[in-house]
Amino acid sequence: MRIEYDRDTCIGMFQCVAEWDAFERDESAGKAVLADSEEVEADLFVREVPADAELDAKFAARSCPVDAIRILDDDGEQLIP
Ligand code: SF4
Repeated sequence: MRIEYDRDTCIGMFQCVAEWDAFERDESAGKAVLADSEEVEADLFVREVPADAELDAKFAARSCPVDAIRILDDDGEQLIP
């Protein structure tokens, strides 16, 4: 499972931070940070989700009010939102 985080869309409400500890606060930027991710294009960060974190990652994606977080399965199919 893969997670994609669109930093440009993020409005810094930090609900995701409460759901999965891979999301951290960048208070000065007013944006979340996705730990251990790769910036594949400008402001788009991607990483694999470990099996034991899948539930937390899904909750993080569902909690985002602006859909800045997407979850994709191993075939690249979008699961959330
Ligand atoms: S929940 Fe969404 S808007 Fe809020 S910090 Fe996380 S990614 Fe940004």
